[in-house]
Amino acid sequence: MISLNEAYKIFLSSHNSSEILKAHDIPIGNILELDTKIRVSLEKALNEEDLSRENVLALTQIEIENVSILMSVSNFLRTKYKGNLISFSKNFFIPLTQLCRDNCSYCTFKYEPGEGDLLYSPERVLEAAKKSLELGCTEMLFVSGDKPELVYEEYRRELNKMGYESTSDYMIAMSELCLEEGIFPHSNLGIAKIEELKRFKNSNPSMGLMLESISERLMDPGEAHYRCPDKYPRARIKTISDAGRLSIPWTTGILIGIGETWEERVDSIFELKRISDEFGHIQEIIIQNFSPKPGIKMEGSPVPTDLDMIKTVAISKILMGKDVNIQVPPNLNAKTYTLHIFSGVNDLGGVSPITIDYVNPESPWPQLDIMKKNISEYGFQLRERLPIYPEYLDKRFLTDNIYNKALKFVDETGYIKEN
Ligand code: SF4
Repeated sequence: MISLNEAYKIFLSSHNSSEILKAHDIPIGNILELDTKIRVSLEKALNEEDLSRENVLALTQIEIENVSILMSVSNFLRTKYKGNLISFSKNFFIPLTQLCRDNCSYCTFKYEPGEGDLLYSPERVLEAAKKSLELGCTEMLFVSGDKPELVYEEYRRELNKMGYESTSDYMIAMSELCLEEGIFPHSNLGIAKIEELKRFKNSNPSMGLMLESISERLMDPGEAHYRCPDKYPRARIKTISDAGRLSIPWTTGILIGIGETWEERVDSIFELKRISDEFGHIQEIIIQNFSPKPGIKMEGSPVPTDLDMIKTVAISKILMGKDVNIQVPPNLNAKTYTLHIFSGVNDLGGVSPITIDYVNPESPWPQLDIMKKNISEYGFQLRERLPIYPEYLDKRFLTDNIYNKALKFVDETGYIKEN
């Protein structure tokens, strides 16, 4: 048992923690000023007791004056589970098709036929696989729009001409091609049926689908997910749960700043916790902050504040527990990713040495050596991982073929061999 006073004293006495607070103008808090409900929630979190929805909603009320006390708790848990290791993976990003049947108000990924290639051809995928291996990548990140074959005739014809019925069929074939070349695919297809997931599992060591938000309200006219049939939360929960039934290591997460309330944000994290507790396959939660770009429907919408991000990261760390890794994308948090490590983050996601982030093309990834330097200044060590985290490098989650291939890359810690 450790008391909140002790944990906060330890946090403040560390040179690294006090430096990060100073660098971001975060004041030293006063535990005596905390509302009793907040204090009770923090004590429970610190001692890894289950928190109720009411406990967590109390944490959302913390203001900047005392947010460092919340950080001391989530930082304590991150250190307890992960020590000073911060992970990332080196990937090559392939936008398999940028056509999509949805219309998210924050999207900059989607385009219409005629604005670019209908799809990324098999020849280009093969070329990318070879190039990425030369660059030392281990992950081929496949991303596509959702079910464009249902609305774009020319795209459907193109797929059929190549012998495929759907984007899913095509992504599975390209995953197999990449695995054969020696790079691990990590597919983000969107909503998928369990039969499709079964086929993906043969070539993908892990896959991803963001929950984004549990709020059905965001599908109403004027909201971020209006006219987006694939953003129906229950459909996304079903795909993530079906992946759990098949023991596919899964990357998911939430978007923050797309019009959701704090209650909805907390309910989204609770839902991910529920799924994780039931199936044990959620390897990672990404806290992705909305970032406005010129020309999108939400161009003028406010961005989440540092305080919003700190609280969301810290609450996610507290709720998701030991085996679920917490990530913020460093390209969307270029000035604050080190701050968020002190809020509970232990992973900085897929970083590409060559391709852009097609979902956020205006935000370049930081160079790896700069990232390494930045985090080592605060006492952390950057370690490269595969698209599967060490905790999930297990035959319970992987086919024999993928398991045996993966073992060749890692040392006894499950991270990629350093030389
Ligand atoms: S589902 Fe993805 S690609 Fe499609 S509109 Fe939404 S954000 Fe854009």
